[in-house]
Amino acid sequence: MGKEYQFETKVIHSQEKMKDPYNSLAPPLYQTATFVFDKAESGERRFSGEEEGHIYSRLGNPTVQLAEQKIASLEGAEAALAFGSGMGAVSAVMMSMVRTGSHILCSKGIYGCTFGLLNMLKEKFGVTYSFSELSSKEEIEKEIRPETAFIYIETPINPTMQIISLQTVAEAAKAHGLRVVVDNTFCSPYLQQPLSHGCDIVLHSATKYISGHGDVIGGFAAGDKEYIQKLAMTERKDIGAIMSPFDAWLLLRGLKTLPVRMDRHCESAAEIAGRLLMHPAVGQVVYPFIGDSEETRIARKQMKKGGGLISFTLKEESKLEVQRFMNALNLIKIAVSLGDAESLIQHPATMTHSVIPEAERHEMGISENLVRLSVGLENVEDIWNDLNQALNAL
Ligand SMILES: *Cc1c(COP(=O)(O)O)cnc(C)c1O
Repeated sequence: MGKEYQFETKVIHSQEKMKDPYNSLAPPLYQTATFVFDKAESGERRFSGEEEGHIYSRLGNPTVQLAEQKIASLEGAEAALAFGSGMGAVSAVMMSMVRTGSHILCSKGIYGCTFGLLNMLKEKFGVTYSFSELSSKEEIEKEIRPETAFIYIETPINPTMQIISLQTVAEAAKAHGLRVVVDNTFCSPYLQQPLSHGCDIVLHSATKYISGHGDVIGGFAAGDKEYIQKLAMTERKDIGAIMSPFDAWLLLRGLKTLPVRMDRHCESAAEIAGRLLMHPAVGQVVYPFIGDSEETRIARKQMKKGGGLISFTLKEESKLEVQRFMNALNLIKIAVSLGDAESLIQHPATMTHSVIPEAERHEMGISENLVRLSVGLENVEDIWNDLNQALNAL
């Protein structure tokens, strides 16, 4: 696939590399666990790496590899690896980079299960972590310890939508020989490409925008070839969080429309965020492109558009009122996950981030009256009317 094609073209045309004897337009689904060797010697050569070819689908599968090549190409990475879930990718990468006693420097706010994983690493293997605003080089350098193994960030942060400068973090990390891992789930490669800002490894929950239809659980890690190959032959192979060929196939189907879907998600979310701001029952509205703060300036620099997610608080502060509001919605579904055709709403304090102890949750800015809305692909007036009637009923 030539470098000369634009994102919207690459997302569709990049399966030419796959040698299919029938010239199928859609990618073939290789739903197989293992691959047959013509001769015992061929098996020997494949295991030793002398001969190219597949061995067993936990190590690699043609349909899954096609998805990996596409994601690598879209993220501007040398290589990518698919996983059975976003957390499969997060945990494989974290395990690959720490040893007993390591420290991980994190953005102030991370996905709930990533927080759970950090605690597991802490309890079992003595790996420590700390959170930081990561807002300036000086601040980052103060937070780096001799035992810091890498920097782990999300931007926008889930679910508070705070923005971190990818370039600032990458520059501070480079000065200390550290790598930066970015969970890019909220943006998808269409809106933000962290490697182009100097970061080293990109992670995705492909369950979200990448597959986009709410029917796949999957994940990716993308980065330089040497690192990704090692990850494939150690953490992914031996822990085994692989993507199934069928999930890869569904994902390849969804991926073709990523730019078209993202454009609509972004356009509708920007419109809804503006209207929420003016509603008397709504407190704060956080959307990356709203306002003229330093954060919005950074967001505009590193994101193509504002994304499809909005976080907002209700003026009513109690959990019960928030639940009453959510229960009054008809079109918008109450569900975790995001990036689907359906608009989804969730309550981080009692759902995605409930595993985080209350004090730390507040420290991260996740209050009881905060909700996270994933704006879907429905007609924007229908989405707004649903929100409006539920807010008016408060
Ligand atoms: C959903 C999500 C994950 C986890 O992905 P799964 O596919 O559910 O395992 C990680 N990070 C972010 C930001 C997410 O939204």
